[in-house]
Amino acid sequence: MVKQSENILIEKHQLHELHREYETYLSLFTHYPGMMFSLNLNGYITNMNGYGEQFAQQNGESVLNKHYTEFIIHADRKKVEEAFRNTLAGKISKLQTTLIHVTRNRVDVEIITIPIYINNKVDGAFSIVRDITLERKTAVALKESQEKYRLIAEHTSELISLVNVENDTVIYASPSHETILGYSPHYYLGRSITLDVYPGDKRSISNLLKNDPQDPSPAVVEFRRKHANGSWLCLEDRATLIPSGLDNERTLVVVTRDITEKKEAERELKQTLKQLKDMKYALDESALVSIADKRGKITSVNDKFCETSGYMKKELIGEEHMILDSGYHPESFFTEMRSKISKGEVWKGEINNKKKNGEVFWVDTTIVPFLDDEGEPYQYVYIRKDITNRKQTEEFLRTSDKLSVIGELAAGVAHEIRNPLTSLKGFTQILKSRLSDESDQEFIKIMMSELDRINMIVNEFMVLARPQAVTYEKANILDLIENVLTLIETQAILNNVQIFTRLIKTVPAITCSENQIKQVLINVLKNAIEAMPDGGEIVVSVYVDSTDIMIEVKDNGTGIPDHQLSHLGEPFYTTKKKGNGLGLMICRRIIQNHKGEMTFASEEGLGTTVAIKLPLDLQQ
Ligand code: ADP
Ligand code: MG
Repeated sequence: MVKQSENILIEKHQLHELHREYETYLSLFTHYPGMMFSLNLNGYITNMNGYGEQFAQQNGESVLNKHYTEFIIHADRKKVEEAFRNTLAGKISKLQTTLIHVTRNRVDVEIITIPIYINNKVDGAFSIVRDITLERKTAVALKESQEKYRLIAEHTSELISLVNVENDTVIYASPSHETILGYSPHYYLGRSITLDVYPGDKRSISNLLKNDPQDPSPAVVEFRRKHANGSWLCLEDRATLIPSGLDNERTLVVVTRDITEKKEAERELKQTLKQLKDMKYALDESALVSIADKRGKITSVNDKFCETSGYMKKELIGEEHMILDSGYHPESFFTEMRSKISKGEVWKGEINNKKKNGEVFWVDTTIVPFLDDEGEPYQYVYIRKDITNRKQTEEFLRTSDKLSVIGELAAGVAHEIRNPLTSLKGFTQILKSRLSDESDQEFIKIMMSELDRINMIVNEFMVLARPQAVTYEKANILDLIENVLTLIETQAILNNVQIFTRLIKTVPAITCSENQIKQVLINVLKNAIEAMPDGGEIVVSVYVDSTDIMIEVKDNGTGIPDHQLSHLGEPFYTTKKKGNGLGLMICRRIIQNHKGEMTFASEEGLGTTVAIKLPLDLQQ
């Protein structure tokens, strides 16, 4: 019995300890923030904590004294039984399974089973059950989304790579790297983002790594990277930083697009545009360009068009090209042109047009109709070249032809006149010696002088007739002028015109064709007289400088308007009813042949000064 009381004593002491331990165990068991069940060796549930009870109640079932396998889905039972056996063999087991209840509620759980040792022998087990339904869902969702992104990355034609920002290494490269860059994705793994990048572009690429984490918009860079075959590709990177991960390492998602073709197309487009611009420039520089819509209304004109026509852009837009019509061409000319271009055919021809100021000009014209999908013209492009000069030359050549015909005729006529004139003069001389009456002698004198005049006029006429027979001789200009004035005097008096001279006393001789210079002076003086229908004054002056002699003929007649000045000397240009417009043309030619110059200064209403400059004979 002593032993027993001893035992009791110990028990008391131990009881206290045991109680403490029991309390400790109970605290853990009751307050553990998860479900905890205890099972006996046979697998029957013997106890559970509050959470376990809650779980059981929620599912409307009592679990106490039931075998744990009842709550495990059928498919997992073997696995769970094995784990339980392991636990009974002293191992801690951990597994994931699905609990099932009568209510058919399924709950995904993680179960950790720990053996309970009593007296160093396994006497049961604790199952710590954790509801992992949500976790699982999240994991599945995560996996799903990872899979989605993987699929996107694997199948997109763009290059996708992940770069560890901290040490600039590529940690993922999509398979498309192979198709675009020629290297397998492995080639890039673990290497720098600037691998194979064109040296000059490296800096901007590495700048991507310095991406501002506060800025969510992707950074975009264009650069060149070498293809496995050695050629350069134009690429565009869009990089977005993924916020720091677990280990504080930042990752850059880089999406790269191959823009080589785009760049090439851009370059080609730029080049084509430049070529177009150059061509337009060349066209604008060389031609008058205008565009008309299908109704023939002008929609655009270039500067040269305005410059030549004298119209401003805004005066032409909306008008028809007929605004330039000079009336030179018959209506049928335009009808034919219109019928051709409205059928979509190109028209080419020479058109006589009128400027705003009334001057006419010639244009070599090409009209190109632009056709729409139905083959109907929707606009016409007019390209014109100013050919006024060419036309003038042609005209000049034609008039020179006319002139030479006139010249030949004149030569014939003059010749025919001179022969009878010679006999008239001869017989008059005979009469002079036969007639002794004073008054008869006076008539004879007049007849002789008139015959001289006719002779002289015919001779002057011959100048025009036979330019090739011209002889150049030394002549005194002062004598020459005097002769001319005699010749013109009668006409001057008839027209109530007085002629004054301002001549220097002596002038050096010049080598010239005397008759031709006379012809010039006669023409100029005749014009001056004709410019003063109500009479007036003519002043003829002569100056000399070291190289030239200058003859000026000044009148106070009607003057010449500015726009006519440039036409003086053009063949057949006349403002007179009975004029022929050849006088000044002949003058100009003669002066040119003498290597001289003829200029006009005129003011409307005040008069005109014609200046003739002839080179002095310097060898003299
Ligand atoms: P025409 O005398 O037959 O008309 P010209 O060649 O001699 O031909 O002259 C051409 C034109 O130049 C004249 O019609 C006239 O309009 C102008 N002109 C020439 N000289 C003068 C002048 N002194 N005053 C005014 N107009 C002149
Ligand atoms: Mg004249």
